[in-house]
Amino acid sequence: KWSDIPLAPPDKILGISEAYVKDTNTKKINLGVGAYRDNDGKPIIFPSVKKAEEILLAKEVEKEYTGITGNKNFQNIVKNFIFNNSNKDANGAKLIEANRIVTSQTISGTGSLRVIADFLNRFYTNKKILVPKPTWANHVAVFKDAGLAPEFYAYYETSKNDLDFDNLKQSLQSQDEGSIILLHACCHNPTGMDLTAQQWDEVLEIIKSKKFFPLVDMAYQGFASGDPFKDIGLIRRLNELVANDELKSYALCQSFAKNMGLYGERTGSISIVTESSDASKAIESQLKKLIRPIYSSPPIHGSKIVETIFNDENSLLPEWLSELDAVVSRLNTVRSKLYENLDKTNYNWDHLLKQRGMFVYTGLSAEQVIRLRNEFSVYATEDGRFSISGINDKNVEYLADAINQVVKA
Ligand code: PMP
Repeated sequence: KWSDIPLAPPDKILGISEAYVKDTNTKKINLGVGAYRDNDGKPIIFPSVKKAEEILLAKEVEKEYTGITGNKNFQNIVKNFIFNNSNKDANGAKLIEANRIVTSQTISGTGSLRVIADFLNRFYTNKKILVPKPTWANHVAVFKDAGLAPEFYAYYETSKNDLDFDNLKQSLQSQDEGSIILLHACCHNPTGMDLTAQQWDEVLEIIKSKKFFPLVDMAYQGFASGDPFKDIGLIRRLNELVANDELKSYALCQSFAKNMGLYGERTGSISIVTESSDASKAIESQLKKLIRPIYSSPPIHGSKIVETIFNDENSLLPEWLSELDAVVSRLNTVRSKLYENLDKTNYNWDHLLKQRGMFVYTGLSAEQVIRLRNEFSVYATEDGRFSISGINDKNVEYLADAINQVVKA
C-alpha cells in the first residue's frame, strides 16, 4: 500500500531555501545553497555564456540527440582543458595521444558521480569508497545508492578549525589495500580547506602503497585561484604518476555548474584514465552500455555553450576566464569583509582566510546556527557552512553583527 511508505526527510540544503523564502524579515540572508549571487544578491548568467547562446540561437538548425557519451568535440575540449591543461601538461597530452583517457559527457557533476559509482560497482572488485569527513552529503547518498560502501577518512578537526593532516594520513594507513578513495580537487566542500602540494604528495604516496583507486571530484575548478588552469595541481600530479607507471588508472568527475554558471543546464563529464588504448575501448563501450538504459544521452544545450566558448579562443574563451576571475574575486572580497567585521576577542576567525571557494566553514555549532536563523533570519546549514555568495556590501555588517551576538552569548 502506498500509504505504508514513510515520509522521507527534506533535503537539508533545499529545505533551508524553502524556509528562507517564507521569512518576511527584509534583512533575511540565505547562506544555504552553493550557487553564485552578485553584489545585489541576484543570480547571474556569465556574459560570455549569453553570447554563446546568441550564437547558438542564430546558427542551430537541429536539436537531435547527441551520442550516449556526448559528442567527440565536447569530449576533446574537456580532455584538453583538464588533462592537457590547454597544451601545458606534457604528461596529460601523452595520455590523450595514446587514447588512455575515456571521457563521457554526463548530467553535470552529480550525474558523473553516479555514472562512475555504477561503473565501479559493476567492474571494480572492492566496493569500499573512502570519503573525507566531512564531505558533501550527496557524495555518501550517491555512492550508497549505487551499491558502494562509503567510509570516512579523517580530514578536518572542527575543534581546531583546521585540517587534521596527521589523522588523515593515519586513517588512510590503517585501511586495507585496494579501496576507492574520493579526493576533492580543490575548494573542498564543505570546509574550503585544501591540501598543499606537499601534503598531496604525502597522500599520493599512501595511495600508491595501498593501491587505492583515486576518484577525483572537481566541482569548483577555478574557485581556488580564480584561474581554472591553476586549480588542477592534483590532476597534473596524478598524470605524472601515471606517466611514470607509478599509478595505472584514476577517474575524474567534473562539472561546469559553478565555473561557467551552467547549474540547471546539467553539464559535466566523467573521465577515466586507463592503462591502455584497448582498455579505453572496452571501458567506453561499457560506459555506453551503462548509460543507455538510464538516460540514453545527455542534454545538449549546456555542452554546446561549452563548445562555443572553447572554440572561440580569441574572444569568448578569454572573456569567460576573466568573468570567472571576477566572480572569484568578489567571493574573496566578501570573505575578507566578513572577517574584518567579526569580533575576534573571544573567537579566533583566522581559519576563514585560509579557506577557499564558495563556502566558509565557520565552526559555529548547530545551536548557534539555529539562533542565527530564529533571531536574525540568517539561513545556513547546521554544520556551520555558510555559502558566502549570499553575502554582499549591503548585508555583511548585519551578518557579522548577528554572528558576533550569537558567539558572545
Ligand atoms: N561535487 C561537489 C563537491 C559539489 O559541491 C557539487 C555541487 N554542489 C557537485 C559535486 C555537483 O554539482 P552539479 O551536479 O550541480 O554539477
